[in-house]
Amino acid sequence: MPDTTLARTCVVCGSARSREELQLSAEWRVRRCESCGLRSLDPEPDPDQLVEVFDNGEIYEGAFLLREDIMARHAETLAALEFRVKPGHLLDVGCGPGFFLEAARVRGWQGTGVDPSPFSVRQIQSLGFEGHQGLLHEVDLPEASFDAVSLLQVVEHLVDPRELLEGCKRLLKPGGVLLVATPNPASLLARAQRERFNYWIPPVHCVWYTPRTLKAALANAGFKNVKTKTWSARAKTQHDGVAALLSTKLGRRLPARTHWRAAELLARTADATGFGSIVEATAIR
Ligand SMILES: [Zn+2]
Repeated sequence: MPDTTLARTCVVCGSARSREELQLSAEWRVRRCESCGLRSLDPEPDPDQLVEVFDNGEIYEGAFLLREDIMARHAETLAALEFRVKPGHLLDVGCGPGFFLEAARVRGWQGTGVDPSPFSVRQIQSLGFEGHQGLLHEVDLPEASFDAVSLLQVVEHLVDPRELLEGCKRLLKPGGVLLVATPNPASLLARAQRERFNYWIPPVHCVWYTPRTLKAALANAGFKNVKTKTWSARAKTQHDGVAALLSTKLGRRLPARTHWRAAELLARTADATGFGSIVEATAIR
């Protein structure tokens, strides 16, 4: 029998029924909402733990190594975004070291970044962007002034996204577009890797949205015409994860090239069927 708790209500659908889906460690578990499928970290982390992790920039060391892969992916994301809104003023919330702002600038966007990390804000200012240090509700930005607001790999860090989503909505011009990307706990990779899925990172990641739950969260915040799709990162670490899984399942190691091809084929299949490891949504204010 799955255990069902009545202690916490789901931040997307309000249901009080959830069950344990995975045990990540002695301390951390993933719970799944019985009604909408939202995954949440149990126990709920302390928000102060999060700010410390981002303060010194160490968390971005891996990202700098993968910069070319990430920039190529950002260009694809922007090309898709531009079907909904022409390049104008972009606010990147949780901008990190500014890769997305740089990819957007090349395509004609004027970029502003917000991030709680002083390291990140110094970094984007040195690249010539307007940068504000803090959480979105702590910084002073003009309402209804942005053509697009992006939240890339941000919502999984928040126990409750509502205040942030409403803040993004206020800053968007009428007709402006919100872009959200976050790990998909219903992806093929998450299902196959179980507790080894790369994006269970307690306590830094604490909520995981499926395409359906992300769509519901954005609609709840008053966004219109929400569209979702999924994609899979093609970084080496991802393919290595799939390779390790294949070796375990097959009981022997395959040549590296075979691993890579198999991982690439799986990623393409997942993306085409809506089971990619990242869910991406766009929605209109
Ligand atoms: Zn729910």
